[in-house]
Amino acid sequence: MPRLRSLPLLLICLLLVALSGFSAYRIAQRLGIADLQATGLHRLDLYATSLEREISKYAFLPGTLSLEPEVLDLLAGGASDYASARVNGYLEKLNERAGTLAIYVMDTRGKVQATSNWRRPDSFLGEELSFRPYFREALEGGNGRFFGIGTTRGEPGYYLASALTGDNGTLGVAVIKVSLEQLEKSWTTVEAPVLVADENGVVILSAVPSWKFTTLRPLDDSTRAAFDHTQQYNRRALQPLGVKEIEDYDHGARLVRIAASGPEMVSVYPVTGRFLEQSRTLPGTPWTLTVLSHLEQVDDLAQSRAALAAIAAACLCLLGVILNERRRHLRDRLAAREALQKAHDELERKVEERTADLSAANHQLQDEVGERIRAERTLRAAQDELVQAGKLAVIGQLSTGIAHELNQPLAALRTLSANAERFLERGDVDTTRTNLGRIADLVDRMGRITGQLRNFARKSSGQSAPVPLCHALDNALALLDARLRRAGAEIERSCPVDEPVALCDANRLEQVLINLIGNALDAMADQARPRLELRWECADGMVRLHVRDHGPGLTDEAQAKLFEPFFTTKPAGDGLGLGLAISAGIIGDFGGSLHGANHPGGGAVFTLELPLAPAP
Ligand code: ADP
Repeated sequence: MPRLRSLPLLLICLLLVALSGFSAYRIAQRLGIADLQATGLHRLDLYATSLEREISKYAFLPGTLSLEPEVLDLLAGGASDYASARVNGYLEKLNERAGTLAIYVMDTRGKVQATSNWRRPDSFLGEELSFRPYFREALEGGNGRFFGIGTTRGEPGYYLASALTGDNGTLGVAVIKVSLEQLEKSWTTVEAPVLVADENGVVILSAVPSWKFTTLRPLDDSTRAAFDHTQQYNRRALQPLGVKEIEDYDHGARLVRIAASGPEMVSVYPVTGRFLEQSRTLPGTPWTLTVLSHLEQVDDLAQSRAALAAIAAACLCLLGVILNERRRHLRDRLAAREALQKAHDELERKVEERTADLSAANHQLQDEVGERIRAERTLRAAQDELVQAGKLAVIGQLSTGIAHELNQPLAALRTLSANAERFLERGDVDTTRTNLGRIADLVDRMGRITGQLRNFARKSSGQSAPVPLCHALDNALALLDARLRRAGAEIERSCPVDEPVALCDANRLEQVLINLIGNALDAMADQARPRLELRWECADGMVRLHVRDHGPGLTDEAQAKLFEPFFTTKPAGDGLGLGLAISAGIIGDFGGSLHGANHPGGGAVFTLELPLAPAP
């Protein structure tokens, strides 16, 4: 997705870069061309002035020949051969001094009467040159000018002609042929190509030799015929230079292209390619001076400016992209922060809600816990009461035996006290003392019995403490002693060498033991010698007491409902059906358990299991 999103941005950036490059190129090119134009105009002025100066240097020279009487005589036809030779000599010297190509005079028919080159074999002397335009122009207008190629030596030159007049009118025409080669040569050293074209567009002077005698525009047939007639270019081919206009500018300037023609020229400046062409006509001539400024440098500059502009645009785009990315990043961060804040607020709101819910629930829970604690307390109190009630029931059951147990020493006390009285009356102090000692023993015995009962009867707290189990069993058996003896019960019991100790309440444990032994005795009530086995067993951190009788065992119903409260098979008044239920509760409170089952060898066996107290 980010790629797709950034694609239009990339395209816009590319477009911007391209546009900047193109605009910079165009502007730099325009400015460069304007610069070139100014320089070109300056060059045009410079070259035009130098050309004019070069030509005007000789302009007066043909006219001055009319000041020579011998020349005029020769043209008038009155000169001797000697005089004619003198004129030739004069012209020869003059030509030498002036540094011109040739100086000659023609009569009114166009025949060369005297010439500076009279000695040379290709001398003009006697030649008929009336076809040359400058001759006619001079005859008609006084002066004639002409650029052409010499008919005899094929040497290009500028012809300046003036009519020579005597007293009887025009006698002939004096002509000076000037070479513009020097000027042309000086142009080859300048920075831009320069050329001069005649009125027909034929290049007559050029800094580039190969451009000379080419045409700037196509020549029509009549012009070519005129050239043939005047032999102006001595039948040269006059090929087109191949200038193609690209664009037109102000002040006669235009952008042109010159294609390569022929072998590449070695030159100080390029001669093909794109040029700024600027022309102006030369005063006093039908010629056009043209300066061609190559656009290479302008193009190079424009290209480098375009590259710079493109780079700058690219940098700007990059900066823009970076700023945009940064802005987007900041926006995303802000959005993320806002979302986070929102989530945080939401969370806080929920936490507050939950806290409120929780505190409400907590209050409710506290209330419930309080309620439960209260209920548990009530239950515990009820349980304690129940245990106490169970204990009182046991005491009730024990009371008959205990009363019987106390009756015997009481009767003995009565007899002993009566006997003591009688022995005292008789003065038998020794027997009286013996009797009193026996009375004291009996009182002690009775005190022990009632003490045990009182101990048992007290309401215990139910708090756990290490209890030596054999000792607890002894206490239980002591309380049951009268009953056991009355029943004639035979007890088989043993205590392990290391007396097991369990964490429980001694008083309550005794209550359980009395219950179990009492039930066993009840089950064996119809037996003459009831047998009771009390066996201890320690294993895996637990201590077990097996209480086995030899009674009828447990019925199926009794097995199913053994620990249900108020389940009893005993006649009303003998049993409440709470003994086992209370006993199981007491043992469960101490982390132990109570089971009842039938022994394979007959009778019932109750197993009491308690965790052993950790070694001190
Ligand atoms: P209670 O002794 O008041 O009946 P218990 O809860 O102590 O209440 O006993 C419930 C019943 O379990 C007894 O009525 C009796 O039927 C049965 N039972 C308890 N111990 C024995 C035993 N050793 N042999 C046979 N039955 C027993």
